[in-house]
Amino acid sequence: MKPKLLMISLDAMVGEDLEIMAQLPGFGEILSRASVVDQVITTYPSLTHPVHVSLLTGCYPDRHGIISNDYFLPGAPYAPWYEDYSLVREPMLPQLLMEQGRTCCSICWPLTIGMPAQWVLGRAWIHEHRGTEKEIMRRNSTPGLFDEVSEAVQTCWGREHYEESDMFCYLAGEYILEKYRPDATFIHFVLMDHIRHAYGVFSDKLKPAYQFLDQGIVKLLHALKKTGDLENTIICLTSDHGQIDVKRVVNLNRFFTDHGLIQVDHDGKLVDWNAYCHSGSLSAYIYVRESEHCSKEQVYELLKSRQVQLGIGEIMTPKETQDRYHLTGVYSFMVETDGCTSFSGSLTGELITCTDNQDYRTSVAGHGHQPEKGAKPAFVLCNPKATQRAHLSGGRVIDQAPTLAALLDVPMNGCDGRPIQELLR
Ligand SMILES: [Zn+2]
Repeated sequence: MKPKLLMISLDAMVGEDLEIMAQLPGFGEILSRASVVDQVITTYPSLTHPVHVSLLTGCYPDRHGIISNDYFLPGAPYAPWYEDYSLVREPMLPQLLMEQGRTCCSICWPLTIGMPAQWVLGRAWIHEHRGTEKEIMRRNSTPGLFDEVSEAVQTCWGREHYEESDMFCYLAGEYILEKYRPDATFIHFVLMDHIRHAYGVFSDKLKPAYQFLDQGIVKLLHALKKTGDLENTIICLTSDHGQIDVKRVVNLNRFFTDHGLIQVDHDGKLVDWNAYCHSGSLSAYIYVRESEHCSKEQVYELLKSRQVQLGIGEIMTPKETQDRYHLTGVYSFMVETDGCTSFSGSLTGELITCTDNQDYRTSVAGHGHQPEKGAKPAFVLCNPKATQRAHLSGGRVIDQAPTLAALLDVPMNGCDGRPIQELLR
Protein backbone atom coordinates (compact mmCIF):
# COMPACT_ATOMS: atom_id res chain seq x y z
CA MET A 1 0.00 0.00 0.00
CA LYS A 2 1.43 3.37 -1.01
CA PRO A 3 1.71 5.93 1.80
CA LYS A 4 -0.69 8.83 2.16
CA LEU A 5 0.36 12.42 2.86
CA LEU A 6 -0.91 15.16 5.15
CA MET A 7 1.08 18.34 4.48
CA ILE A 8 0.33 21.24 6.81
CA SER A 9 1.71 24.71 6.21
CA LEU A 10 1.87 26.91 9.31
CA ASP A 11 2.39 30.31 7.74
CA ALA A 12 5.43 32.10 9.27
CA MET A 13 6.29 29.25 11.66
CA VAL A 14 10.02 29.27 12.53
CA GLY A 15 12.36 26.72 14.11
CA GLU A 16 12.30 28.59 17.45
CA ASP A 17 8.57 27.75 17.74
CA LEU A 18 9.17 24.00 17.94
CA GLU A 19 9.83 24.29 21.67
CA ILE A 20 6.30 25.65 22.24
CA MET A 21 4.77 23.15 19.82
CA ALA A 22 6.49 20.16 21.44
CA GLN A 23 4.59 20.85 24.70
CA LEU A 24 1.16 20.61 23.04
CA PRO A 25 -0.80 17.37 22.59
CA GLY A 26 -1.24 17.40 18.80
CA PHE A 27 1.98 19.04 17.61
CA GLY A 28 3.83 17.19 20.38
CA GLU A 29 2.58 13.82 19.11
CA ILE A 30 3.87 14.60 15.63
CA LEU A 31 7.19 16.03 16.83
CA SER A 32 7.89 13.09 19.12
CA ARG A 33 8.08 10.80 16.08
CA ALA A 34 9.47 13.20 13.48
CA SER A 35 12.64 14.23 11.73
CA VAL A 36 13.31 17.96 11.79
CA VAL A 37 15.12 20.28 9.42
CA ASP A 38 15.57 23.75 10.86
CA GLN A 39 17.17 26.91 9.43
CA VAL A 40 15.33 26.31 6.16
CA ILE A 41 16.18 28.78 3.39
CA THR A 42 13.08 29.94 1.60
CA THR A 43 12.73 31.54 -1.82
CA TYR A 44 12.87 35.28 -2.55
CA PRO A 45 10.84 37.39 -2.10
CA SER A 46 9.78 35.60 1.09
CA LEU A 47 6.08 36.11 0.42
CA THR A 48 3.31 33.63 1.10
CA HIS A 49 2.03 32.86 -2.39
CA PRO A 50 5.35 32.53 -4.29
CA VAL A 51 6.84 30.38 -1.51
CA HIS A 52 3.80 28.10 -1.31
CA VAL A 53 4.22 27.43 -5.01
CA SER A 54 7.93 26.67 -4.46
CA LEU A 55 6.94 24.30 -1.65
CA LEU A 56 4.82 22.22 -4.06
CA THR A 57 6.82 22.56 -7.30
CA GLY A 58 10.35 22.30 -5.89
CA CYS A 59 11.17 25.23 -8.17
CA TYR A 60 12.32 28.81 -7.72
CA PRO A 61 10.07 31.70 -8.82
CA ASP A 62 11.88 32.22 -12.14
CA ARG A 63 10.55 28.83 -13.20
CA HIS A 64 7.16 28.57 -11.54
CA GLY A 65 6.30 32.14 -12.50
CA ILE A 66 4.70 33.50 -9.30
CA ILE A 67 6.94 36.36 -8.15
CA SER A 68 4.59 38.21 -5.81
CA ASN A 69 1.45 37.80 -3.74
CA ASP A 70 -0.57 40.27 -5.77
CA TYR A 71 -0.67 41.65 -9.29
CA PHE A 72 1.19 44.83 -10.20
CA LEU A 73 -1.68 47.26 -10.71
CA PRO A 74 -0.53 50.86 -10.24
CA GLY A 75 -3.09 52.98 -8.39
CA ALA A 76 -5.10 50.04 -7.03
CA PRO A 77 -5.09 50.08 -3.20
CA TYR A 78 -5.68 46.33 -3.03
CA ALA A 79 -4.71 44.49 -6.20
CA PRO A 80 -6.04 40.96 -6.62
CA TRP A 81 -3.78 38.16 -5.46
CA TYR A 82 -2.39 35.35 -7.60
CA GLU A 83 -4.81 32.55 -6.78
CA ASP A 84 -5.49 30.46 -9.84
CA TYR A 85 -3.79 27.14 -10.30
CA SER A 86 -3.46 27.71 -14.08
CA LEU A 87 -0.93 30.53 -13.45
CA VAL A 88 1.70 28.10 -12.13
CA ARG A 89 4.14 27.11 -14.88
CA GLU A 90 5.66 24.02 -13.26
CA PRO A 91 3.84 20.88 -12.10
CA MET A 92 2.83 20.90 -8.45
CA LEU A 93 3.04 17.76 -6.30
CA PRO A 94 -0.77 17.21 -6.25
CA GLN A 95 -0.82 17.26 -10.03
CA LEU A 96 1.92 14.59 -10.20
CA LEU A 97 0.03 12.48 -7.68
CA MET A 98 -3.18 12.76 -9.67
CA GLU A 99 -1.36 11.68 -12.83
CA GLN A 100 -0.58 8.47 -10.93
CA GLY A 101 -4.24 8.00 -10.09
CA ARG A 102 -3.97 9.22 -6.49
CA THR A 103 -6.64 11.44 -4.95
CA CYS A 104 -5.82 14.92 -3.61
CA CYS A 105 -7.38 17.53 -1.37
CA SER A 106 -6.32 21.16 -0.99
CA ILE A 107 -7.70 23.26 1.84
CA CYS A 108 -6.85 26.93 1.31
CA TRP A 109 -3.38 26.18 -0.09
CA PRO A 110 -2.35 29.18 -2.23
CA LEU A 111 -2.57 28.84 -6.01
CA THR A 112 -4.73 25.72 -5.96
CA ILE A 113 -8.05 27.35 -6.88
CA GLY A 114 -9.27 25.61 -10.02
CA MET A 115 -6.89 22.67 -9.57
CA PRO A 116 -8.52 19.54 -11.01
CA ALA A 117 -8.18 17.68 -7.69
CA GLN A 118 -11.07 15.81 -6.12
CA TRP A 119 -11.49 18.22 -3.17
CA VAL A 120 -10.45 21.88 -3.33
CA LEU A 121 -11.59 24.46 -0.80
CA GLY A 122 -10.51 28.05 -1.50
CA ARG A 123 -10.05 30.91 0.91
CA ALA A 124 -11.71 34.33 0.98
CA TRP A 125 -8.95 36.85 1.60
CA ILE A 126 -8.78 39.56 4.24
CA HIS A 127 -9.59 42.47 1.93
CA GLU A 128 -12.93 41.01 0.92
CA HIS A 129 -15.95 42.63 2.54
CA ARG A 130 -17.02 40.83 5.65
CA GLY A 131 -20.24 38.95 5.08
CA THR A 132 -19.28 37.82 1.57
CA GLU A 133 -16.77 35.18 2.67
CA LYS A 134 -19.02 32.19 2.23
CA GLU A 135 -20.04 33.22 -1.26
CA ILE A 136 -16.41 33.71 -2.30
CA MET A 137 -15.31 30.43 -0.73
CA ARG A 138 -18.13 28.59 -2.46
CA ARG A 139 -17.00 30.05 -5.79
CA ASN A 140 -13.34 29.18 -5.09
CA SER A 141 -14.08 25.57 -4.19
CA THR A 142 -14.90 22.31 -5.97
CA PRO A 143 -18.59 22.58 -6.97
CA GLY A 144 -20.80 21.45 -4.11
CA LEU A 145 -17.95 20.87 -1.65
CA PHE A 146 -18.24 24.08 0.36
CA ASP A 147 -21.92 23.46 1.01
CA GLU A 148 -21.24 19.84 1.83
CA VAL A 149 -18.65 20.66 4.51
CA SER A 150 -20.67 23.60 5.86
CA GLU A 151 -22.40 21.43 8.42
CA ALA A 152 -19.04 20.30 9.80
CA VAL A 153 -17.54 23.80 9.93
CA GLN A 154 -20.45 25.84 11.21
CA THR A 155 -18.89 26.42 14.63
CA CYS A 156 -16.03 28.43 13.04
CA TRP A 157 -18.09 31.39 11.83
CA GLY A 158 -18.20 34.69 13.69
CA ARG A 159 -14.70 34.52 15.15
CA GLU A 160 -11.81 36.86 14.51
CA HIS A 161 -10.85 36.56 10.81
CA TYR A 162 -7.67 34.48 11.16
CA GLU A 163 -9.05 32.14 13.81
CA GLU A 164 -12.20 31.69 11.76
CA SER A 165 -10.15 30.92 8.67
CA ASP A 166 -7.92 28.36 10.37
CA MET A 167 -10.79 26.74 12.24
CA PHE A 168 -12.57 26.38 8.90
CA CYS A 169 -9.44 24.66 7.56
CA TYR A 170 -9.05 22.15 10.35
CA LEU A 171 -12.73 21.29 10.66
CA ALA A 172 -12.99 20.84 6.88
CA GLY A 173 -9.80 18.75 7.00
CA GLU A 174 -11.18 16.55 9.74
CA TYR A 175 -14.39 16.03 7.75
CA ILE A 176 -12.64 15.21 4.46
CA LEU A 177 -9.96 12.96 6.01
CA GLU A 178 -12.64 10.95 7.75
CA LYS A 179 -15.20 10.77 4.96
CA TYR A 180 -13.07 10.59 1.79
CA ARG A 181 -9.59 9.55 3.00
CA PRO A 182 -7.65 11.38 0.24
CA ASP A 183 -4.24 10.02 -0.72
CA ALA A 184 -2.75 13.49 -0.17
CA THR A 185 -4.09 16.49 1.73
CA PHE A 186 -2.57 19.97 1.74
CA ILE A 187 -3.73 22.51 4.38
CA HIS A 188 -2.61 26.11 4.90
CA PHE A 189 -3.03 27.81 8.30
CA VAL A 190 -2.53 31.59 8.56
CA LEU A 191 -2.88 32.45 12.26
CA MET A 192 0.83 32.44 13.16
CA ASP A 193 1.61 34.88 10.36
CA HIS A 194 -1.07 37.24 11.67
CA ILE A 195 0.18 36.96 15.27
CA ARG A 196 3.71 37.87 14.20
CA HIS A 197 2.54 40.74 11.96
CA ALA A 198 0.42 42.16 14.78
CA TYR A 199 2.61 41.61 17.86
CA GLY A 200 6.18 41.16 16.60
CA VAL A 201 8.33 38.17 15.70
CA PHE A 202 8.51 36.83 19.26
CA SER A 203 5.71 37.72 21.66
CA ASP A 204 3.70 36.11 24.43
CA LYS A 205 0.83 35.75 21.94
CA LEU A 206 2.59 32.89 20.14
CA LYS A 207 1.78 30.25 22.74
CA PRO A 208 -2.00 30.82 22.89
CA ALA A 209 -2.07 30.90 19.08
CA TYR A 210 -0.30 27.55 18.90
CA GLN A 211 -2.67 26.20 21.53
CA PHE A 212 -5.56 27.29 19.32
CA LEU A 213 -4.08 25.56 16.26
CA ASP A 214 -3.22 22.48 18.27
CA GLN A 215 -6.91 21.81 18.83
CA GLY A 216 -7.12 21.42 15.05
CA ILE A 217 -4.05 19.21 14.85
CA VAL A 218 -5.62 16.92 17.47
CA LYS A 219 -8.78 16.70 15.36
CA LEU A 220 -6.83 15.90 12.19
CA LEU A 221 -4.85 13.18 14.00
CA HIS A 222 -8.07 11.83 15.45
CA ALA A 223 -9.61 11.56 11.98
CA LEU A 224 -6.56 9.61 10.75
CA LYS A 225 -6.75 7.29 13.76
CA LYS A 226 -10.46 6.68 13.29
CA THR A 227 -9.99 5.57 9.66
CA GLY A 228 -6.88 3.55 10.47
CA ASP A 229 -4.84 5.73 8.09
CA LEU A 230 -2.45 7.19 10.67
CA GLU A 231 0.13 4.41 10.39
CA ASN A 232 0.21 4.81 6.63
CA THR A 233 0.29 8.62 6.50
CA ILE A 234 3.36 10.81 6.18
CA ILE A 235 2.64 13.98 8.11
CA CYS A 236 4.70 17.08 7.51
CA LEU A 237 4.62 20.52 9.04
CA THR A 238 6.16 23.24 6.96
CA SER A 239 6.32 27.01 6.70
CA ASP A 240 6.90 29.62 4.04
CA HIS A 241 9.01 32.29 5.76
CA GLY A 242 9.95 33.91 9.08
CA GLN A 243 9.39 37.56 9.86
CA ILE A 244 11.52 40.54 10.92
CA ASP A 245 10.51 43.27 13.38
CA VAL A 246 9.81 46.58 11.64
CA LYS A 247 10.56 50.01 13.11
CA ARG A 248 9.26 52.32 10.39
CA VAL A 249 7.41 52.38 7.08
CA VAL A 250 8.64 54.17 3.95
CA ASN A 251 6.29 55.18 1.16
CA LEU A 252 8.41 55.01 -1.99
CA ASN A 253 5.54 56.14 -4.18
CA ARG A 254 5.33 59.35 -2.16
CA PHE A 255 9.07 59.74 -2.79
CA PHE A 256 8.51 59.30 -6.53
CA THR A 257 5.60 61.77 -6.43
CA ASP A 258 7.80 64.35 -4.68
CA HIS A 259 10.35 63.92 -7.46
CA GLY A 260 7.86 64.33 -10.30
CA LEU A 261 7.90 60.65 -11.27
CA ILE A 262 4.27 60.02 -10.25
CA GLN A 263 1.35 62.39 -10.88
CA VAL A 264 -1.77 62.22 -8.72
CA ASP A 265 -4.96 64.32 -8.86
CA HIS A 266 -6.54 66.33 -6.02
CA ASP A 267 -8.24 63.21 -4.69
CA GLY A 268 -4.97 61.31 -4.55
CA LYS A 269 -5.88 59.15 -7.58
CA LEU A 270 -3.13 58.08 -9.94
CA VAL A 271 -2.88 60.12 -13.17
CA ASP A 272 0.42 58.96 -14.62
CA TRP A 273 3.75 57.47 -13.56
CA ASN A 274 7.33 56.99 -14.68
CA ALA A 275 8.49 55.10 -11.60
CA TYR A 276 6.28 53.01 -9.33
CA CYS A 277 6.86 50.87 -6.26
CA HIS A 278 5.07 47.53 -6.03
CA SER A 279 5.58 46.68 -2.39
CA GLY A 280 6.28 43.21 -1.09
CA SER A 281 6.58 44.57 2.45
CA LEU A 282 10.27 44.11 3.29
CA SER A 283 11.26 44.23 -0.36
CA ALA A 284 9.70 45.98 -3.32
CA TYR A 285 9.73 45.87 -7.08
CA ILE A 286 10.44 49.20 -8.76
CA TYR A 287 8.99 49.62 -12.23
CA VAL A 288 10.30 52.38 -14.50
CA ARG A 289 8.57 53.58 -17.66
CA GLU A 290 11.31 55.24 -19.60
CA SER A 291 10.67 58.49 -21.47
CA GLU A 292 12.77 61.36 -22.69
CA HIS A 293 12.57 62.77 -19.13
CA CYS A 294 13.17 59.56 -17.23
CA SER A 295 15.56 56.66 -17.58
CA LYS A 296 16.17 53.62 -15.41
CA GLU A 297 19.64 54.93 -14.63
CA GLN A 298 18.20 58.22 -13.31
CA VAL A 299 15.75 56.41 -11.03
CA TYR A 300 18.53 54.12 -9.82
CA GLU A 301 20.81 57.07 -9.05
CA LEU A 302 17.97 58.90 -7.28
CA LEU A 303 17.21 55.92 -5.03
CA LYS A 304 20.93 55.34 -4.44
CA SER A 305 21.47 58.97 -3.38
CA ARG A 306 18.75 58.66 -0.69
CA GLN A 307 19.25 54.99 0.13
CA VAL A 308 19.79 55.42 3.88
CA GLN A 309 16.84 57.79 4.38
CA LEU A 310 14.59 55.44 2.40
CA GLY A 311 15.57 52.39 4.47
CA ILE A 312 16.94 50.54 1.45
CA GLY A 313 19.61 47.94 2.18
CA GLU A 314 20.25 47.02 -1.44
CA ILE A 315 19.08 47.91 -4.92
CA MET A 316 19.25 44.91 -7.25
CA THR A 317 18.83 44.65 -10.98
CA PRO A 318 16.79 41.78 -12.47
CA LYS A 319 20.11 40.20 -13.51
CA GLU A 320 21.26 40.28 -9.88
CA THR A 321 18.00 38.83 -8.52
CA GLN A 322 18.21 36.12 -11.17
CA ASP A 323 21.81 35.23 -10.33
CA ARG A 324 21.37 35.33 -6.56
CA TYR A 325 17.78 34.19 -6.01
CA HIS A 326 16.48 32.63 -9.25
CA LEU A 327 13.97 35.46 -9.48
CA THR A 328 13.13 37.28 -12.65
CA GLY A 329 10.41 39.53 -14.03
CA VAL A 330 9.75 42.70 -15.98
CA TYR A 331 10.54 45.00 -13.01
CA SER A 332 13.42 47.46 -13.37
CA PHE A 333 14.89 47.01 -9.89
CA MET A 334 14.23 45.31 -6.65
CA VAL A 335 14.88 47.08 -3.36
CA GLU A 336 15.54 45.20 -0.15
CA THR A 337 14.96 46.48 3.40
CA ASP A 338 17.79 47.83 5.53
CA GLY A 339 16.60 45.32 8.17
CA CYS A 340 14.03 47.43 10.01
CA THR A 341 12.09 49.27 7.28
CA SER A 342 8.95 48.09 5.55
CA PHE A 343 7.78 49.54 2.23
CA SER A 344 4.20 50.72 2.13
CA GLY A 345 1.88 49.89 -0.74
CA SER A 346 0.24 53.32 -0.64
CA LEU A 347 0.25 55.94 -3.31
CA THR A 348 -0.34 58.91 -1.02
CA GLY A 349 0.48 59.75 2.61
CA GLU A 350 3.68 60.75 4.39
CA LEU A 351 7.09 59.58 3.22
CA ILE A 352 8.04 57.99 6.55
CA THR A 353 5.54 56.76 9.12
CA CYS A 354 5.37 54.49 12.14
CA THR A 355 3.99 50.97 11.91
CA ASP A 356 0.20 50.89 12.35
CA ASN A 357 -0.95 47.28 11.75
CA GLN A 358 -3.45 48.52 9.14
CA ASP A 359 -1.99 46.25 6.50
CA TYR A 360 0.65 43.52 6.33
CA ARG A 361 3.00 46.06 4.75
CA THR A 362 2.73 48.49 7.66
CA SER A 363 2.59 46.04 10.58
CA VAL A 364 5.07 45.76 13.47
CA ALA A 365 6.72 42.74 11.86
CA GLY A 366 6.80 41.63 8.25
CA HIS A 367 8.45 39.57 5.56
CA GLY A 368 9.34 39.65 1.88
CA HIS A 369 12.99 40.02 2.88
CA GLN A 370 16.03 38.07 1.69
CA PRO A 371 15.83 34.44 2.86
CA GLU A 372 19.17 34.44 4.66
CA LYS A 373 17.93 37.05 7.17
CA GLY A 374 16.09 36.60 10.47
CA ALA A 375 14.42 33.58 12.06
CA LYS A 376 13.93 30.80 9.52
CA PRO A 377 11.24 28.19 8.88
CA ALA A 378 11.47 24.58 9.96
CA PHE A 379 10.38 21.41 8.16
CA VAL A 380 9.01 18.57 10.29
CA LEU A 381 8.54 15.17 8.71
CA CYS A 382 6.80 12.32 10.47
CA ASN A 383 7.09 9.18 8.37
CA PRO A 384 5.67 6.10 10.12
CA LYS A 385 7.84 3.84 7.92
CA ALA A 386 11.12 5.65 8.67
CA THR A 387 13.83 3.52 10.23
CA GLN A 388 15.71 6.49 11.67
CA ARG A 389 15.01 10.05 12.70
CA ALA A 390 17.22 12.93 11.67
CA HIS A 391 17.77 16.46 12.93
CA LEU A 392 19.35 18.58 10.24
CA SER A 393 20.36 22.19 10.36
CA GLY A 394 20.05 23.99 7.06
CA GLY A 395 17.70 23.02 4.27
CA ARG A 396 15.82 24.52 1.36
CA VAL A 397 12.14 25.04 0.70
CA ILE A 398 12.66 23.75 -2.84
CA ASP A 399 13.83 20.33 -1.54
CA GLN A 400 10.57 19.55 0.24
CA ALA A 401 8.39 18.59 -2.75
CA PRO A 402 11.03 16.25 -4.28
CA THR A 403 11.57 14.66 -0.84
CA LEU A 404 7.85 14.02 -0.44
CA ALA A 405 7.56 12.81 -4.03
CA ALA A 406 10.33 10.26 -3.40
CA LEU A 407 8.61 9.04 -0.21
CA LEU A 408 5.26 8.80 -2.02
CA ASP A 409 6.85 6.99 -4.96
CA VAL A 410 5.89 9.64 -7.51
CA PRO A 411 8.33 10.73 -10.22
CA MET A 412 9.28 14.41 -9.85
CA ASN A 413 12.09 15.04 -12.28
CA GLY A 414 13.69 18.24 -13.40
CA CYS A 415 12.70 20.56 -10.56
CA ASP A 416 15.30 22.80 -8.91
CA GLY A 417 15.27 20.96 -5.58
CA ARG A 418 16.59 17.51 -4.64
CA PRO A 419 15.29 14.90 -2.23
CA ILE A 420 16.82 15.23 1.24
CA GLN A 421 18.58 11.86 1.49
CA GLU A 422 18.59 11.74 5.33
CA LEU A 423 14.79 11.87 5.30
CA LEU A 424 14.38 8.94 2.90
CA ARG A 425 15.72 6.29 5.29
ZN1 LIG B 1 3.18 33.54 4.66
